[in-house]
Amino acid sequence: MVIGILSIVLNTNAQKKEIKITIEQLSQNIYMLTGQGGNIGVFKNEKGIFIIDNQFARLSDRILSKLKTISDKTVTMAINTHYHGDHTGGNENIATKGATIFAQKNVRSRMEGIQKEKGKITPSSLPVITFNEGLQLYFKDENISAFHVHNAHTDGDAIIYFTKGNVLHMGDTFFNNRYPYIDLKSGGSIKGYIKAVEKALLIANDDTKIIPGHGKLASKNDLDEFLKMLTKLTNAIQKEINSGKSENEIIKNTGLTAEYDAKGFGNGFINPERIRKTIYTSLTNSEK
Ligand SMILES: [Zn+2]
Repeated sequence: MVIGILSIVLNTNAQKKEIKITIEQLSQNIYMLTGQGGNIGVFKNEKGIFIIDNQFARLSDRILSKLKTISDKTVTMAINTHYHGDHTGGNENIATKGATIFAQKNVRSRMEGIQKEKGKITPSSLPVITFNEGLQLYFKDENISAFHVHNAHTDGDAIIYFTKGNVLHMGDTFFNNRYPYIDLKSGGSIKGYIKAVEKALLIANDDTKIIPGHGKLASKNDLDEFLKMLTKLTNAIQKEINSGKSENEIIKNTGLTAEYDAKGFGNGFINPERIRKTIYTSLTNSEK
């Protein structure tokens, strides 16, 4: 009871605390916007503003007014890297103001599924252009490739690359310096996740600016380190499984993640125990 009251007080205080919206220029026309939820990529172009992800509905007004500081134009195009609410919550707000939203087809079907379950369909919040494997967008001074990676963070992830600006937005296939959340119930898997990161590393070079779904702006080195972490943990846990260790033994074995726990990877949303459990579950429950 006491704890209950305490948590209500803490929550109220947290809500009162103003979320800070920041925008950082990465190249001539490309920016990274942060607030609360997934990092937003911004591309200023001859037609208007194109954004990658859009955080929560309650932040839309503040995000849009922050965008006014870099351009008078409106948001005309938006892509969702995947369906989670901290990346797509502003869809309806920006769509009703004229943005065309696109995403991998599973993003739309998952959002539709959730809305049907809740008995409230809001068509304007759904992507109106969907693709299976990928999409190319051509602007006057920029070419953009969006490509689908399979069964990584979810079953609908897209990674977006700006060819000329040399900026890569990874969505939630990259948590910079953090253990990742892998949504196994939405088609994510550790093996697909590793493949997605490997694919991104083929595109990136030493000058590429990498926007992670969560965490600070990153370089190829950071992504390399993240891949090493994923591979080491996965190999170590697979070895334990092969030697007949139980789920509980693996989840409780702090040694499996100690090297990266010490580097702070477990200080975010996913703690060391949770990442051990996720990798174990993914390795034993699917052939993906
Ligand atoms: Zn996510």
